Amino acid sequence: EGRTPDTFAPVEVGLHGVTKRFADQTAVDDVTLRIHEGEFFSVLGPSGCGKTTLLRMIAGFEDPTAGRIELDGVDVVGVPPYRRDVNTVFQSYALFPHLSVWDNVAYGVKRKGVRGARLKQVVGEHLELVRLDRYAKRRPAQLSGGQQQRVAIARALAAGPRLLLLDEPLGALDAVLRKELQIELMRIQREVGTTFLYVTHDQEEALVLSHRVAVMNAGRLAQVGYPEDVYERPATRFVAGFIGTSNILDAEVSGVDGRWVVLDAPGVTGLRAPLNGHVIRHGQRVAATVRPEKVHLHDLADEPPTGWCVLTGTVRDVVYAGVSTQYVVDVPGGAELVAFVQNTHRVADAGSPGQPVRMAWDPDFTVLLGSTPREGLD
Ligand code: ATP
Repeated sequence: EGRTPDTFAPVEVGLHGVTKRFADQTAVDDVTLRIHEGEFFSVLGPSGCGKTTLLRMIAGFEDPTAGRIELDGVDVVGVPPYRRDVNTVFQSYALFPHLSVWDNVAYGVKRKGVRGARLKQVVGEHLELVRLDRYAKRRPAQLSGGQQQRVAIARALAAGPRLLLLDEPLGALDAVLRKELQIELMRIQREVGTTFLYVTHDQEEALVLSHRVAVMNAGRLAQVGYPEDVYERPATRFVAGFIGTSNILDAEVSGVDGRWVVLDAPGVTGLRAPLNGHVIRHGQRVAATVRPEKVHLHDLADEPPTGWCVLTGTVRDVVYAGVSTQYVVDVPGGAELVAFVQNTHRVADAGSPGQPVRMAWDPDFTVLLGSTPREGLD
């Protein structure tokens, strides 16, 4: 259904070994990536990982030091920004302060030579698209931040680009408005069908909005996949730590049993992870991860389901967080594990600080990190 882009959809943006070096620094390092027509695609990573630089190269504001950038199969390196069928929405809105909302949206349309009734129609449609038709006569300064960003989105789309680049467009808005505009952006992208390439450091935003997500770290791609992939099956320790909360266990490979990797970690009984194409060898040191909401807390008297990964620890902290209660548990070997217990029926009561507790999870949710060949990059 809708969320999954057609794998055979035409490739709109093709990056091949794209690298950007500034004097003493590699901002983007050998990035190879394909973005399909009609996708809502996000680039997610911490501040300074190279997201903006990558976007600026696609827009044409910056040339790569090495590699190729193709739009619709045509190499565009050296083609100036205005000759690319691309528009950008910035965090700072960058509206023309002396022009009305209507004239701001009309700007790029007029530059394409559209006049008269057709111009009115295109501007009207785009003001409606962002639900600002009633504000056409206002100046940007007479609008809220969220409304100004809607104008910027309408202005960028009205010119009819094949590709819309959005650089942290919601970064200046408060949390409530941000959520509201996220929903709006998804609707707008669905309605217009334009390919969106969205840059953000907000992991939740990337998961919520996107068909696919590329996670970047220090200029390189760490993982590319559907939101469910990068969250449920992070490829590296970095991805596991950057997206959501994760428990990391240092372990040693003790064998392979059918589709399972059998692992040894201090204090954990029955630690296993799906092999999932990993290439491992006996005795190898690896890291495994399990998400806190997959970890169940049991009374010491309860027997966890057979085949589950089990360990016993001591509750250190209990944090009530509305939807869930979060238990931080000290485990043998000096590590700590976090478990989220949903407050579905009543507030969870699985122990208080100082109490021993048993933690258990279905081994299907253990994820082996870091030893897979990089996959899914296109
Ligand atoms: P943020 O979210 O903070 O904007 P980012 O992921 O977008 O970060 P970039 O702005 O692409 O990161 O910067 C990547 C790295 O390249 C940074 O270390 C930055 O200092 C460096 N950099 C970016 N532009 C230039 C430039 N024009 N000259 C020198 N170094 C630069």
